[in-house]
Amino acid sequence: NPDDPPSRDAENVTVTVRVRPFNVSELKGTRAPMEVWTVQDGSRVSYSDEYSMRDRRAAVEYTFDHALTGSDNEIIYNSSVKDLVKSAMEGYNGTVFAYGQTSSGKTYTMSGTDKQMGITPRAVEDVFKYIRENSEREFLLRVSYLEIYNENIRDLLSPEAIELRIHEDRRRGVYVSPLKEEIVTTPSQVMRIIQRGDCKGVNETNVIESRERSSSAPTTPIGRKLSIGQKLPTAVRVSQLNLIDLAGSEKASSDAERRKEGAFINKSLLTLGTVISKLTGDKGTHVPYRDSKLTRILQSSLSGNARVSVICTISPSFSNVEESHNTLKFAARVK
Ligand code: ADP
Ligand code: MG
Repeated sequence: NPDDPPSRDAENVTVTVRVRPFNVSELKGTRAPMEVWTVQDGSRVSYSDEYSMRDRRAAVEYTFDHALTGSDNEIIYNSSVKDLVKSAMEGYNGTVFAYGQTSSGKTYTMSGTDKQMGITPRAVEDVFKYIRENSEREFLLRVSYLEIYNENIRDLLSPEAIELRIHEDRRRGVYVSPLKEEIVTTPSQVMRIIQRGDCKGVNETNVIESRERSSSAPTTPIGRKLSIGQKLPTAVRVSQLNLIDLAGSEKASSDAERRKEGAFINKSLLTLGTVISKLTGDKGTHVPYRDSKLTRILQSSLSGNARVSVICTISPSFSNVEESHNTLKFAARVK
């Protein structure tokens, strides 16, 4: 029965690990690089025996809901996001996170490329497909796009990108205002809005370049949250689909980065991990939504009958093995 809410249990949080292929520079050496991670049965990730002997790290094996390699974004969309989009259209909040170190493939997975459409455009298409197939129902779609950096919330769709505040009331729950929300009726309209917002965001690539040159480094966003809200006026059902490309997780684990930015990202990602892990646990336990802006603004989407899909991306390379271990620990903790 579609009117029965999904129960709040482990089923509502799915964790996927994606190991990206080697890139050109990793393949440039004299020898072909070795695969550090072995992915099996679509769910198991292990640290290859040869490597664990070499660096005297214990061999580890994790099992997740899904584990995969390769470049096909359709496969990962179908396994880890498609059902969540459908349930968002049926009235349940859904949130997709991409978590991982910089250059592990978060943006490739979420946004994709010209050749490999990412999760976001695929989700947008499915939303409109759902509307077409359910023409007896009435839908109103609104899009918002925001960014959090150094615990400031910026509206990527507002011309001034002004700082936003968090409010809470009985009727609306926790919400951000004055957040621009655009009403949309076609997938291409949504994609144009996203492109417009992307231009206004803090560009991670530029951040790295300018950090090398100057000491007053600009900030890295903790996350970009794209929300597609839908309202069903007749049934008075409102739900949100949030698609989030998080800040590089290496900033959270490096204590060399004692700057403000590193500390904020650290706290946000740590709190996110705690909040998600509590969603699958006891209903009675305290969930620390208020410990970071990211979890606070997602409070309504991460409680009750919400569905969450965490996609953790890792590099295949031995040079990134430390961060990959950290990412897998995060992935194991949230499930
Ligand atoms: P992040 O957003 O985590 O910093 P990116 O998504 O920008 O990382 O990925 C870094 C580079 O690796 C990009 O050039 C991207 O196209 C490529 N890449 C990442 N994941 C894959 C993948 N699964 N298949 C092919 N190329 C990938
Ligand atoms: Mg990125």
